[in-house]
Amino acid sequence: MKDKKECEIVQDLLFNYVDGILNPESKKLVEEHLTKCVDCQSRLKQINDDTKDKNVKEQIELDYLKRIRVKTKIKTITTAIVTIILICFIMFFNNFIKINTIINRAEKSLQSNNFYKETSQMLIDGETFITKEYYKDGKYKSVYQVYTDSGVETQMIEYTNTDTDERIYINETEKKAVIEKGELSKIKNNIKYVPFVINRNSLSKKIGTTFTYTIDVDTYDYGKEYYILRNKKENARWEIWIDKETGLPIKEINRNAIKTFYTGTNVVREVKDMVLEYNYEFNKVTDEDVDVPDLSGYTVETTDWNFEIPSK
Ligand SMILES: [Zn+2]
Repeated sequence: MKDKKECEIVQDLLFNYVDGILNPESKKLVEEHLTKCVDCQSRLKQINDDTKDKNVKEQIELDYLKRIRVKTKIKTITTAIVTIILICFIMFFNNFIKINTIINRAEKSLQSNNFYKETSQMLIDGETFITKEYYKDGKYKSVYQVYTDSGVETQMIEYTNTDTDERIYINETEKKAVIEKGELSKIKNNIKYVPFVINRNSLSKKIGTTFTYTIDVDTYDYGKEYYILRNKKENARWEIWIDKETGLPIKEINRNAIKTFYTGTNVVREVKDMVLEYNYEFNKVTDEDVDVPDLSGYTVETTDWNFEIPSK
């Protein structure tokens, strides 16, 4: 009877014994009893096994929760990455469409057989260089002028056409004409050389352009829209404005490109943007604009650019 009573006490204490929270006296009592009682030993073993099982179960549950959390995290990160890539792709594609449209429209505009292009270049205060280029059915004329407060000075007029290897320069003030002949004349016809949009019609060039330039939209005179393209590599120091309708450039700005100094010093007097403006007109050029005038009354000089390759 006494033993049974002791067994009950010990078994009540066994949970706390396993958890290690018994005071030293009770612990001693339990341990002493355990050495001589097989029943309580097996009870202890059972408690230990149960505890182990419970721990294993808890660990499994914890692992499961952990895995769910990791999975959720991966899913969130993946979604974010995919979203970012998608946004970048949409932005890229959107810009690519704009570039593609610009180049295609420019190509179409430049196919015109009647084309006038005016380039203004503001270099120094009070001096603007104007190049007026006329093109009609294969014939070209370029007029180079300087505008100042005291008036317009025509420096040179140049005629050529696609059928000939001849180029005629006329100086009106000196009544002088220079006729240049040969291969060199042929390659110098550049009225249809339009910055940026020319020679960019291949797919690889269009993709490259999309990577290199940022595109903004703005409006100018009469609410006409234009794109502003800025070169990312040049820290947007250079920009070009392109007319949406024609795909042709209307303005080029090279920021802080012109620096002037006080005479004889390194001290900066002024920093200015270099600005080029372009104007185009279609179907306005007349035959009179491009026909070479009567050269009687001019001093005519001929230059031959056909080089002879020396034999030997
Ligand atoms: Zn016992």
